[in-house]
Amino acid sequence: MSIRRMLMLIAALVLIPSMALGAVTEDAFARWYDHIAYLTEEAGIRTVGSMGHDVAYYYLLEEYERIGMSYDDETLWKSGCIANGYDAFNIVGVKPALNENPRIITVCAHYDSISPGARDNASGVATVLLAMEYFQQLAPYPDTELRFIAFTGEESGHEGSLMYVENLTPDEKQRSLATFNVDILLVDAEDTQAAFSCDTLGMRTEDGYVSGTEASPAVNAGARAILAAMEETGLFDAGEEGVTWCVPRHLGASDHESFHLSGIDAVNVCFRGNVAEGGSWPGVMHTPEDVMGDFDLQRSRQALEVLLTAVEGLAADHGYGG
Ligand SMILES: [Zn+2]
Repeated sequence: MSIRRMLMLIAALVLIPSMALGAVTEDAFARWYDHIAYLTEEAGIRTVGSMGHDVAYYYLLEEYERIGMSYDDETLWKSGCIANGYDAFNIVGVKPALNENPRIITVCAHYDSISPGARDNASGVATVLLAMEYFQQLAPYPDTELRFIAFTGEESGHEGSLMYVENLTPDEKQRSLATFNVDILLVDAEDTQAAFSCDTLGMRTEDGYVSGTEASPAVNAGARAILAAMEETGLFDAGEEGVTWCVPRHLGASDHESFHLSGIDAVNVCFRGNVAEGGSWPGVMHTPEDVMGDFDLQRSRQALEVLLTAVEGLAADHGYGG
């Protein structure tokens, strides 16, 4: 361990209880964890068409309403799709802007899973709930609308997000500033090599990965906002690849790709395994072992802080996307 890293650790231990981590309160973080435990242990496997999927769906709808989203004022709506051969729904929560024709920032994650899915992706969808609850407490932004989406059908081919993006009007696409997808925001305590990561375009070709296109560059507003938030919060270190880093990677395969492919700046915020070995996903992903475990919750909490700071910075137009 380098001296610098040791000093950072000591600083983190001494400072964290009293400093920053302002957005993610103890209560909010406890609820985030409870959502994960519920989805993993009560809903269980959430393949589209299964009972677990429906349990999760109704649980999430209830949470959206508890947080204040409502069908009456159209801050809550469902967007349908066919996923895994079934009719299924994405859940969309909206925090409207004050003015007309606002920019749109989306925070999203998939709630379907092919395993009990604590990591993949109860941790992501719990993050959408946490973010929605946080921003509900804030005054509306003049010119930024926030959307919080729980997608279905990610595991069966990104069907939920592809259909959602297809249904956006050209005007909505044009006003879309950035999308923050969250897929796996839990890291095992023993996995000291796991890295905080911000993935952009994840188009896999036979030769490997391709970078962004002119319509959707790999380094985009979302990635820039995450990097700016890391700098502002002092959490994670973009320069320290191998332990904690955040670089736009051409990896992914999650719902951010659906946005990317239609020209909307999007990132996937996640924890990845050993970066030196290619930043693979956790070994238990997509297995029955993706259950609750001994997690490094402090790192999740820091990642949540970075995410909220990034969204807030971009929403309030603090130059985060520039
Ligand atoms: Zn996933």
